Amino acid sequence: MPSRSLQSIIESVAASDGAGVKLRRSLGRAQGLRHDPFLMLDEFFSDNPDDYLAGFPSHPHRGFETVTYMLDGHMRHEDSEGNRGDLGPGDVQWMTAARGIIHSEMPQQAEGRMRGFQLWLNLPATEKMRPAEYRDIPAAGIPVVELEAGGSVKVIAGAFGDRHGPVGGRTTEPLFLDIRLPAGASVDIPVTTGHNAFLYAYDGQASVGPDRLLLPHRSAGLLSDGDRVVVTAGPTGGNALLLAGRPLREPVVQYGPFVMNTREEIEQAVLDYQRGQLVAPRRA
Ligand code: FE
Repeated sequence: MPSRSLQSIIESVAASDGAGVKLRRSLGRAQGLRHDPFLMLDEFFSDNPDDYLAGFPSHPHRGFETVTYMLDGHMRHEDSEGNRGDLGPGDVQWMTAARGIIHSEMPQQAEGRMRGFQLWLNLPATEKMRPAEYRDIPAAGIPVVELEAGGSVKVIAGAFGDRHGPVGGRTTEPLFLDIRLPAGASVDIPVTTGHNAFLYAYDGQASVGPDRLLLPHRSAGLLSDGDRVVVTAGPTGGNALLLAGRPLREPVVQYGPFVMNTREEIEQAVLDYQRGQLVAPRRA
């Protein structure tokens, strides 16, 4: 198989979510702008507390997984399953909403930089109504592969080299890497053939593939198929997220925080939420 190349680009746009948190949304900014099994990618990035202080108060999810990866700042999570977590720099929260969860994600700082990502990863039809699951993964629990040519790769999910990320056992077999390269350095990363993949350059400049096509800053660069991808940093270095996963090839019907396969299932989700039945009853 050939090395993957840049096939198309989903530019990010300014958006606002929660109680008015300013963010950049690439994947998922419009219906159809997804990359199966990935539904959405948001980057929140601000030095101005007015942009983030209102946070994401109590809201529901059903039918997919949310993955939050913090770079800077501090966020507290509380949910209807009784989970509580504090997310700091480098930490990851992997929440499988599945049948339903109601949670809040609130900044725990009054000043300084808040920066991170939220990824929405779809679940197959057979797993959308499973009980919710939740994992907090501290930065120290995420393997980092130091590259010979300089730079590093954090393995949040899937594998790189002989290191495996803390998240596995998913039907979508996600690969989630944070690639940080010094000026001019390259890394060659195996990616399962047939899986959909994209890159998101969040700092500096990165180019993709043997033809070194430049990845626009803060855009999702969707990749062609292949068994690997070569990422090369620009003259000031480059940091990028690499996401890949097994496509589900199932219909996607989304209504806000609910992502199901049919309109009827969405109507049921709304009804369940209104009746207080989104979340499975908790055992005493
Ligand atoms: Fe949420």
